[in-house]
Amino acid sequence: AGLDADVRKLTDKRSRVLGESYRLFYRKPVHLVRGEGQYLWDAAGDKYLDVYNNVASIGHCHPAVIDAVCQQMQQLNTHTRYLHERILDYSEALLATLPAEIDRAMYMCTGSEANDLAIRIARAWSGGTGIIVTQEAYHGTSDLTSGVSPALGSGQPLAATTRLVPPPDRYRVDAPDLGEWFANEIQKQIDDMAAHGIKFAGFLADSIFSSDGVLPGPKGFLQKAVEVVHKNGGIFIADEVQPGFARTGEAFWGFARHGVVPDVVTTGKPMGNGIPVSALLAKSDVLAAFSDDIPYFNTFGGNPVAMAAAQAVLTVIKDEGLQEHSRTVGEKLLAALLTLKDKYECVGDVRGAGLFIGFELVTDKRSKTPYKQLALDVTERLRENHVLTSVAGPYGNVLKLRPPLAFQESDIDWLVGALDKSLTACGR
Ligand code: PMP
Repeated sequence: AGLDADVRKLTDKRSRVLGESYRLFYRKPVHLVRGEGQYLWDAAGDKYLDVYNNVASIGHCHPAVIDAVCQQMQQLNTHTRYLHERILDYSEALLATLPAEIDRAMYMCTGSEANDLAIRIARAWSGGTGIIVTQEAYHGTSDLTSGVSPALGSGQPLAATTRLVPPPDRYRVDAPDLGEWFANEIQKQIDDMAAHGIKFAGFLADSIFSSDGVLPGPKGFLQKAVEVVHKNGGIFIADEVQPGFARTGEAFWGFARHGVVPDVVTTGKPMGNGIPVSALLAKSDVLAAFSDDIPYFNTFGGNPVAMAAAQAVLTVIKDEGLQEHSRTVGEKLLAALLTLKDKYECVGDVRGAGLFIGFELVTDKRSKTPYKQLALDVTERLRENHVLTSVAGPYGNVLKLRPPLAFQESDIDWLVGALDKSLTACGR
């Protein structure tokens, strides 16, 4: 009862002092006070397994990030109009993880800012305005990026220059060659733009299609899409906010699993393990069309403290072998989750890459009817079993399983056991 009173006090205060478009998770909100690795603790001292957080990507409160930030904070923090080694050394290290053609880095604080700039660059480079995204995409909160974020729902109008393609969903799209099907969908929208006097500028996609329901495969299916984009004079912007930084296991970047080279890469969330830092990485010739005419300055972007955090994250990913860890533990987790698919009629599909897994709930395997209510109930039940996650996809019926990369093999039983219990309790 004490905790309930505490939760009520905080929720009441939130509704008094915060803007009203904030949304809390859970019918019974969680009041977190501490984090370490893949675990979180609430005010009552209860321990939770975090299966959702790709911001604390290398683990909550990682000591390497804390040390790097504290040390730099004690020395200096200022902006990019003065010389500093940190931004240059980090840029070299980050660019070394990318294909050689991508040779320039710019820094900001959020994924939204990175995508906002990417759209401006696409427009400057192509001379067009039209941007294609998937039907349930989320790319940010600025005017430009919310205009290409159908995930925000019908209250948020899309820009007149935005066109949507259906997501490349192997579970639901019946096409012999998913890559060709997807490329054709893109071509159709480019043609539609042309018919409306809109010149195509670019295709912006999160290469694991997280908000479309986590769609990792088949590997390589993006190749034909990128060919179509280039053939029509646009650029491909890979939004790596979710799949980047070793998350998908097989590659450091999500797009790399598909064997494509983007023209622009944007990132954010996992880059600073919680310190606000984001980046736009681009081919210099693509960037030039924008940079030649327009100066860019982002007060906090690329500051020495942010760069120290980002460098620590990169170093930890290498030193702790987190990419390989994500691949191997992700495979084991996927295999364990697939046993639930065999056990329950309501588990339609389980798919993933590394520690990024979509767990899709349906009324029955034959009809594949999305079972949103079950997904919501399971999420609440998981919370009662101290496992934190959320849902994704156009029907809200896909559990998004995306723990910090600190997730261990020994955590699999907790997660799969809690899911099993939740499905028994509210499933069919
Ligand atoms: N792109 C993707 C794919 C995202 O998931 C998000 C955040 N959910 C963003 C962009 C925007 O990032 P931010 O919230 O840091 O602005």
